[in-house]
Amino acid sequence: MKIAIIGGGPGGYEAALVASQLGADVTLAERDGLGGACVLTDCVPSKALIEVSSTVTVLNGATDLGIQLPGTADGSRPRATADAERLYRRIKSLAQAQSRDVAARVAAEGVEVLDDIGRLSSPGTIRAGGRDIAADAVLLAVGAHPRVLPDSVPDGERILNWRQLYDLPEIPEELIVVGSGVTGAEFASAYQSLGSKVTLVSSRTRVLPHEDVDAAVVIEEVFRRRGMTVLGRSRAASVKRDGDRVVVTLTDGRVVRGSHCLLTVGMEPSVDGIGLEEAGVKLDERGFVEVDRVSRTSAPGVYAAGDCTGVLMLASVAAMQGRIAMWHALGEAVHPIRLSHVAATIFTDPEIATIGVTASAVESGEVPAAVVKLPLAGNPRAKMAGIRDGFVKLYARPDTSVVLGGVIVAPRASELILPVSVAVEQRLTVDQLAQTFTVYPSLSGSLAEAARKLMRYGDFN
Ligand SMILES: Cc1cc2nc3c(=O)[nH]c(=O)nc-3n(C[C@H](O)[C@H](O)[C@H](O)COP(=O)(O)OP(=O)(O)OC[C@H]3O[C@@H](n4cnc5c(N)ncnc54)[C@H](O)[C@@H]3O)c2cc1C
Repeated sequence: MKIAIIGGGPGGYEAALVASQLGADVTLAERDGLGGACVLTDCVPSKALIEVSSTVTVLNGATDLGIQLPGTADGSRPRATADAERLYRRIKSLAQAQSRDVAARVAAEGVEVLDDIGRLSSPGTIRAGGRDIAADAVLLAVGAHPRVLPDSVPDGERILNWRQLYDLPEIPEELIVVGSGVTGAEFASAYQSLGSKVTLVSSRTRVLPHEDVDAAVVIEEVFRRRGMTVLGRSRAASVKRDGDRVVVTLTDGRVVRGSHCLLTVGMEPSVDGIGLEEAGVKLDERGFVEVDRVSRTSAPGVYAAGDCTGVLMLASVAAMQGRIAMWHALGEAVHPIRLSHVAATIFTDPEIATIGVTASAVESGEVPAAVVKLPLAGNPRAKMAGIRDGFVKLYARPDTSVVLGGVIVAPRASELILPVSVAVEQRLTVDQLAQTFTVYPSLSGSLAEAARKLMRYGDFN
């Protein structure tokens, strides 16, 4: 079987690896670099930046733990900051190294990579590298790019999208972040820790409007306590340069000024001019490629994966959609994608990790569930580490006591969520989770404790 893939991000390269391992002859066209935007400009660089910002936060909280850092013997608080040039250089070289690793893995599997823009000539043919490549199945994994608003156009110097941050010569002194979704909240959190004076412009009543309310409330409280200005119900109408400054005008006429503005106002699929509609690939009303749960588009033999489908814009989902496409195309047994089983993390400080049923589904009565929420402040390990904010929350079915999901707000919540993911995937009960040994003292001890509390619900079998 011959497979042609356009786009070498997680959607494309993970599919290429699977298809190649299954014996297919695979050609992949990638215009920018393997690993895609995920590795080169989005996920990997942002998580590297956030990792450093977390270390700065730890250092700046050190005196509260009884640590004396050089120069603080008089009781003054340490003020660790970042060296922008070294920080950004390290991040970019880390991303390049990761891209090279992906390229090496793909090459080792015998995938042919064309460094070129790929276009769909017909449902069974792509054009790239100056030739037409006929394939039994085609995968579109072309990703998405930052949305640009007409009155807020990035200039790469003071008005920026997140892909331009790593070319700055400095840490912004006064950063205005427009948009309080996941990307906006993550960068606002990181730059506040790195020493910027951050103003977060949120069009909704609270930050992270689409996330668990309890978690969003904790994050907003932490943001404000650390000195961030959070402007709720404030929509930016325009962002303009004023010399070396930026001026953000809100729709109600208020004006916010700063040294830099970061725009995090969403993504658009990278589908223009590559022959999709001509080949019969249907786009939805937002312009994303329509796919079913095994990644098929409306054109026979054409699959799509990742951000260009707008399904759930996560690297893990892109990769799974790509693999599913290949398993399906190559006749392997395949499960349709289960989005309710996707574990996700918002890398604010503290992190928010979620899996399974959402609070809104439970509160609306759509899913019957018992819930227990335990603040981390009561956890012995959290006390030792000086962790004040955060909680673990578990949902379980009232009739069967099967774990339906959970939310963890904590440092490294991204690591702590795994037992809940396993419980949801394997349909474990709260009793099984509660009877599992945890280490004392540990943050994960709170998960077992939440499960024990849920066992007390009388209506469980
Ligand atoms: C700031 C930020 C942080 C994020 N952090 C996380 C995170 O922590 N965890 C997580 O799971 N997800 C995260 N994401 C989301 C994640 O980056 C995306 O979901 C993921 O990149 C999607 O993978 P993809 O393969 O669909 O697309 P991409 O990674 O965008 O790759 C698409 C590739 O296709 C190429 N391409 C496009 N058109 C063509 C063409 N015509 N011909 C050839 N090549 C083409 C592009 O050059 C690109 O390399 C983050 C996103 C952002 C914006």
